[in-house]
Amino acid sequence: MKHLNEPVNATEAPCGSGGFVGLALAAQKVITALRPQADHRRRLERLLVVDDEHMACNLISLRLRQNGFQVETAHSGAEALDTLHTKSFDLVLLDRLMPGWSGDRVLKELRQAHSSSDLPVIMVSAVDDSEQIAEALEMGANDYITKPIDFTVALARIRTQLIRNTSENAGRNAAQHRFANEGEATPRPDGDGLWDWNLDSGRIYYCPRWASMLGLAPEEISNEPGAWLSRVHPQDIGPLRNALQAHRDGKTETFEMEYRIRCKDGAFRWMASKGVAFRDAAGKAIRMAGSQTDIHEMKTVDGLTGLPNRTLFIEHLTEALEDKCLDPGHGLAILVINVDRFKLVNDSLGRSAGDRLLIEFASRIRAVVLKWRSAAEGREGSLVSRLGGDKFAAMVDGISSPLQAVSVADQMLHALRPMFALVPESGHPGNLPGGDLQERGFQCTASIGVALSGSRYQTAEDIVEDANAAMCSAKSREKDCWALFSDSMHDLPRGRDGSTDVRSDLRRNENELRDALRQGQLRVFYQPRVDLNTEKILGFEALVRWSHPRRGLIVPADFIPLAEQTGLIREIGSWVMEEACAQVSQWQTKFPMDPPLDMAVNVSPVQLREPDFVGLVMGILQRTGLAAPGLQLELTESVPVEDLDGARQKLLELKDFGVGLKMDDFATGYSSLKYLSKLPFDTLKIDRSFIGDLDDDRGVTKEIVRTILQLAANLKVGVIAEGIEQPEHLKCLRELGCEFGQGFYFSEPVDAAGIERLLMQARTDA
Ligand code: C2E
Ligand code: MG
Ligand code: MG
Repeated sequence: MKHLNEPVNATEAPCGSGGFVGLALAAQKVITALRPQADHRRRLERLLVVDDEHMACNLISLRLRQNGFQVETAHSGAEALDTLHTKSFDLVLLDRLMPGWSGDRVLKELRQAHSSSDLPVIMVSAVDDSEQIAEALEMGANDYITKPIDFTVALARIRTQLIRNTSENAGRNAAQHRFANEGEATPRPDGDGLWDWNLDSGRIYYCPRWASMLGLAPEEISNEPGAWLSRVHPQDIGPLRNALQAHRDGKTETFEMEYRIRCKDGAFRWMASKGVAFRDAAGKAIRMAGSQTDIHEMKTVDGLTGLPNRTLFIEHLTEALEDKCLDPGHGLAILVINVDRFKLVNDSLGRSAGDRLLIEFASRIRAVVLKWRSAAEGREGSLVSRLGGDKFAAMVDGISSPLQAVSVADQMLHALRPMFALVPESGHPGNLPGGDLQERGFQCTASIGVALSGSRYQTAEDIVEDANAAMCSAKSREKDCWALFSDSMHDLPRGRDGSTDVRSDLRRNENELRDALRQGQLRVFYQPRVDLNTEKILGFEALVRWSHPRRGLIVPADFIPLAEQTGLIREIGSWVMEEACAQVSQWQTKFPMDPPLDMAVNVSPVQLREPDFVGLVMGILQRTGLAAPGLQLELTESVPVEDLDGARQKLLELKDFGVGLKMDDFATGYSSLKYLSKLPFDTLKIDRSFIGDLDDDRGVTKEIVRTILQLAANLKVGVIAEGIEQPEHLKCLRELGCEFGQGFYFSEPVDAAGIERLLMQARTDA
C-alpha cells in the first residue's frame, strides 16, 4: 500500500520536468490519480465559483468545501479572470448572467488560454434559457446546471467533469511524453496500445503507447511475449493464455480478453485486449495483431456515484488486511450499509428519483468517513464504495475498539436523518406509504452491519460477508439501526437481498427455512375480506408466517424473497394453498353462507413457472374438497412473470374450472397495466399505500383511487381495497363506490381460531 500514501498532484504532472524517469513517474502519478475513490491519494480539487450574487456564491462554496473541495470565489467576471490568471484551478462554476463581464464573455476569454479538457467550465444558468445553454456549450462550456442550484445534481456533475478531465490528462501526458522523446506523430491521447506478434519468430512489437499505458518507456520492454504475459495478474494469466491459444487454434473468430496488468509502480490496472490472427494457406496462425485498451475506470468505478465499485473495494481491502497483519495495533472496521426501502422509492417515484437518492446517500456516508479520516493521523486507508444496487461499504481505518466502529455507524445514521429532496418522475404515483414524501422531503434510513478486522479473516470477501450478515440482522430487527457482527448471525434468515455476497448465507438459510417447513414452524394466518357497506365477512386472504423458535413470529417480507430466490417458494406455496383450502372448506361447512366463504392465496410468479401448476392446484382442490370458486389466486409483481404467454395459458385453464384470479398490490409496480392486459384477472386489489394516503391534502390519491375504480369498471373487473385502517378510509371508499376491502380496521391477520371467533360473533350479531 505504499503508493496509497503518496500525494498526487495532477496539474503538476509531466511537461517540462527533466528526463524520462521524471516524466514517466509524473505520468504515473496522474494514472494513479485516476482511481477516483482512493480518497486518501487525492489532493483537494480546486474549484472557482463565479457568481455576482454573494449569498448564492457563498452558500454553494460552503457546501462544496463540506464535500472536500478547495474553493475560491469571484463576484464578477473581471475578478474571475484576474484570479484565473494568477492561480490554477481544476474546474470553474460560472454564472451566466452577471453585470459587466457576463459569463459568456468570461468563458470566451478563458478559452483563449485553457482548452475544455484543461479546465472544465460548468455554466450556471436560469432554467428557461435553453437556447443560450446551447450557445454556451458551443462556446466551450463542458456542462451546465440550472438555477436554483440543486446541490446534489451540481455535485454529481462536478465530479463527473473532474473524473473525465483527470482521465484525459493522463492519456495526454503520456502521449506528450512519447512525442517529446521520439518525435512520433502525437497519437490520440486516449488511444489504444497496439501489438503485433510474429508467431514463428516469437517476437512481439509493442507500440510506444502500449508501453506508456503501463507507465513504461518503449526501451523498458523487450520484444518478448513475456514482457506482456509476465505482468498479467496471477488470477488472469490462465484465462488469457487459454484465450490466446484458442484463437491460434482457430476455435474463436477473434481474440478478446480482459485482465489486470502490473504497471511500472507495481499497481495493477484493468485492460481489454482484442486481436486477430493471420493464417497461412494451411490455416496455421503465423501472426497475431491487436490492441490493448485501458478499461480501469470502467471496471473499478461505479458510474452513478463515482465511488469505487466492489472490485476495487475488495482489492484495497485485501491490501489493507495484509498491512494490518503487519501492524495489528490499528484495526479496520468494515461497514456494509443498505438503504432501507429503496425498492419502494424506485417503484413509487421512478428510477431517476432512485438514482438521485443513491447519489446523495453516497455523498452523505462518504462525508462521515472523510470527517473521520481527517480527524486524526493513521486513518488514510479509509474508503467508501458502492457494492451494487442499494448497498454500500466503507472501510474505516484506525479503529481501536468496537465502540469506535459503531460510533462511525451511528454518525452515518445521523447524517442520513435530514430529509432527502426527491421529485417523482412523471408517470409515477409519487407517494410513499406513511406519507413519507412531504412537500420535497423523503426520510431515508439505512441498516448498517459492522465487522472488525482480526486474525479470523483470511480474505477480504470473508469480512465483507460478515459485515453483510450483520447488516441483514440489523434490517430484520427494526431498520435505521446498526448491528455488530457476531457468530450467531450466520444462522439468521436474511431476505430481500439477492446480491452475490449473501449467496452463502442464502444457502445456509435455505436449509433453515426448509427445516422450518418440515418441522411445522410455518403457520397460516387469515385476514377477512368484507363487504364495505354491510361489513359482513365474505372470505379471507391466507398470509404465511414463520414461527421461529428463537426469533418469534417472522413476517413474510423477511423470508418470502429468500424462498423465491432459492425456489423453496414452490414447496411453501403449495403447503399454504393446501392448508388454506382445507381450512376454508371446513368453515364453509361450519358457517354456511351464500355465496360460500372463499379463500385468497398469494401465488409467486416462481410457482407459476412450474410446468404442472394447473395440475397442482386441481390436486389441492380435490384433496381438500373445495369447489373451484372457493379459491382465488393473488398474483403480485414481486418477481417478474417471465413467460407471460405460458402464465396466461395456465391461468386461463384454472379460470375455466372456476378458480378466481386477483391482481395484488395494483399500481405499485412497473408492469401492472401490462399484466392487467395480458392475464385473465377478475379483480384488482388496490395497494394499501394508496388507501393510507387517501386523506392527503391535495386529494391526489383520492383521484388515483377514483381512476382505478373507473378503470376496473371499464374492464368489468372487481376491486378490493387493501389496508383500510381508519374509519375515514372506509368512509372515503364508500363515497367512491368501492364495495370490498380488508384491513386492520376490520381485523388484522389472525390464526384460524381467531377467525372462528369472528365468524361466531358475526353469527350472534346477525
Ligand atoms: P399482500 O398479499 O398484499 O398482503 C397484504 C399485506 O398487508 C399483509 O402483510 C397484511 O398483513 C397487510 N395488511 C393488511 N391490512 C393492513 C392494514 O390495514 N394496514 C397495514 N399496515 N397492513 C395491512 P403480510 O402478511 O406481512 O404479507 C406481506 C406480503 O407477503 C403479502 O402482501 C404477500 O405479497 C406476501 N405473502 C404473504 N403470504 C404469502 C404466501 O403464502 N405466498 C406468497 N407467495 N406470498 C405471501
Ligand atoms: Mg395478497
Ligand atoms: Mg397486497
